Amino acid sequence: MTLSTPIAGLPGIGPAYQKRLRKLGIKTVQDILFHFPHRYEDFSNIIPISKVKLGKACCIQGKILGIKNTRTWKRKMFLTEAVVEDGTGAIKVIWFNQPYLINVLQPKDNVCLAGKVSLDKNGLYLSNPAHEKPPTSTGGGLTHTGRIVPVYPETEGLSSRWLRYILKSLLIKFRNEIQDPLPEKIIKEHKFLPIQKAIWQIHFPDSLNLAKLAQERFSFEELFFIELWVLRERMKLANQIAFSIPLNLELVQNFVKSLPFKLTDAQKKSTWQILKDLEKPRPMSRLLEGEVGSGKTVVAAIAALNTIKQGFQAALMAPTEVLAKQHFKTVWELLKNFKINIGLLTGKEDKFFSKKLKNQVIEISRQKLLEKTRKGEIDLLIGTHALIQDKVRFGNLALVILDEQHRFGVEQRARLCQQSNIRTIPHLLSMTATPIPRTLALSIYGDLDLSLIDELPKGRKKIITRVVPPPERQKTYDFIRKEIKKGRQAFVICPRIEEEGKLEIKAVKAEYEKLSKDVFPDLKVGMLHGKLAGKEKEKIMRDFKNKKADILVSTSVVEVGVDVPNAAVMLIEGAERFGLAQLYQFRGRVGRAKYQSYCFLFTDSPAKKTHQRLRALISCENGFELAEKDLKIRGPGDFSGARQWGIPDLVMDSLKDIFLVEKTRNSAKEILTEGQSLKKFPLLRERLKKFQEKIHLE
Ligand code: ADP
Ligand code: MG
Repeated sequence: MTLSTPIAGLPGIGPAYQKRLRKLGIKTVQDILFHFPHRYEDFSNIIPISKVKLGKACCIQGKILGIKNTRTWKRKMFLTEAVVEDGTGAIKVIWFNQPYLINVLQPKDNVCLAGKVSLDKNGLYLSNPAHEKPPTSTGGGLTHTGRIVPVYPETEGLSSRWLRYILKSLLIKFRNEIQDPLPEKIIKEHKFLPIQKAIWQIHFPDSLNLAKLAQERFSFEELFFIELWVLRERMKLANQIAFSIPLNLELVQNFVKSLPFKLTDAQKKSTWQILKDLEKPRPMSRLLEGEVGSGKTVVAAIAALNTIKQGFQAALMAPTEVLAKQHFKTVWELLKNFKINIGLLTGKEDKFFSKKLKNQVIEISRQKLLEKTRKGEIDLLIGTHALIQDKVRFGNLALVILDEQHRFGVEQRARLCQQSNIRTIPHLLSMTATPIPRTLALSIYGDLDLSLIDELPKGRKKIITRVVPPPERQKTYDFIRKEIKKGRQAFVICPRIEEEGKLEIKAVKAEYEKLSKDVFPDLKVGMLHGKLAGKEKEKIMRDFKNKKADILVSTSVVEVGVDVPNAAVMLIEGAERFGLAQLYQFRGRVGRAKYQSYCFLFTDSPAKKTHQRLRALISCENGFELAEKDLKIRGPGDFSGARQWGIPDLVMDSLKDIFLVEKTRNSAKEILTEGQSLKKFPLLRERLKKFQEKIHLE
């Protein structure tokens, strides 16, 4: 057996576990060894039973005096009750729904227990503690108690206990086979733990400090791969040629005059920056960042218009079908007097094509659309991920616009490039409303150029934001009813649930029932969740837009960015479970028209920190600032944006530290000066390849 042995070949990992592990992308021994804990519990001090305190987590060691199963008749739950004694005292222990424990733990057994101390009418007891018999002689010491215990990210059917058990035996067997992908001089320079030691310490640390050192090493490593990759792409690009697209000022001015509104200064500035970039024969890499409603689409439309009128093609890629269609409609409206062919390509059977002569949208087959794209007859192709499928070929693609991709822009451009019939690299404009911390943007996009739209169109009123604790619920519901009676509409977002799927739907349904039956029986309530079919989702959104419902209850996973100008209330349940950046985005769905809009953050959590964090949303107007604040208050593990960005949690920690990012970047640059192919560093090259493959798959 080696590090690359598939997990299927390992004892103790049956088909069910294999499946769950594969869900996490774990296929081999190596993969599972690199599945890291996201936090630790410090049970390293074993204390006398006489010293246990209510509400505290603790670890004790003692002898089992008795153990028995009982059943609560009310809730049909198994309770396993034991009494444990250590010479200084005795304490009751209760486990819930683990009746098999009486076969594992028997009277007179010596046992270590780690868990929380609770109180019932009979006194203190240990509630659901981790249990473990102290190892007799050899075996590497305690695993689940009496030490700093690793806690792994929760996944259905994969307990931390099971992972610890498996990982310990695998680490003992394999850790010395792991080779260090980092070049020696980097390890020396940064005084990193050697990988064999680091991998042990990150799972089973001897001290919290060693855990931290191990984490530092591995986050450097991950970040280092990102930097290497991005820098390498960047270097490749620097020598590439892009179409130089001359600026047709008259055209742009005509377009701007045709708009029913005046561009904001920020829009003008961003537009100018982009048009200037397009003139250069080097591929542009620009991130256009502006909050929801700041008017990014118009800016993109100008860039596309100028590109197209100079004889090139442009592509616009949106994350979802709904958004792609919305873009198609919007852009079509904006550009319809400019005689431009716009195509819409989504994953499904849609096949629209707007014809320049008659100025109307007609349907054509997908095959035809692809053919016209290849021939360069489609000026602007709008679509979902379908755009980067093999079948799509462009004739002379010069500009790629990505909307809310939450991914590595370089990656998507690279794929679109492969689809171009020509050797020039298209310019890249990536748009986002997610306020990305600067450090993160820097790493993801390399030395990306940034255009900020930091002002909203005039006449928009500031959204009034309130944190609503339970006693104020009713009052808030009453207020919302009044707004709706005035003709407005409301969004309700259900609490975030880690596991998408059944639970998520259950939560939406429950909220829907509550609102439609108890709270607002007099109003029309609609419901939307991620598991609905595309068509159905669209119908619900369309109905809501057409005011067929007053309130739309939805999960957090549904499309952001959908434009419903009449919606003036955003209610978020369980607001504390979301990252600030995400809340900020939700809020951006209202306040898109002249009406005064409101955002209510419902929370049942009494924690001060929660309220403090949520209140940041009231005071913060700038998304950047907010994201950085969030990162600081919550820590990286919780930063909900991290997943969206495809960044491992661990890396988020290091991204907080601009200094570390720069250090990593410098190291990556240094290594790349010895050759972009990384020939001298075969292990590094191997790992980088794997890293890129992983990103491809996600
Ligand atoms: P986002 O940045 O979220 O993509 P959009 O481009 O969808 O924003 O713009 C939101 C709305 O604001 C659209 O209805 C758009 O027509 C309008 N809009 C854009 N720019 C301006 C402006 N300068 N003045 C007034 N309304 C504008
Ligand atoms: Mg948008």
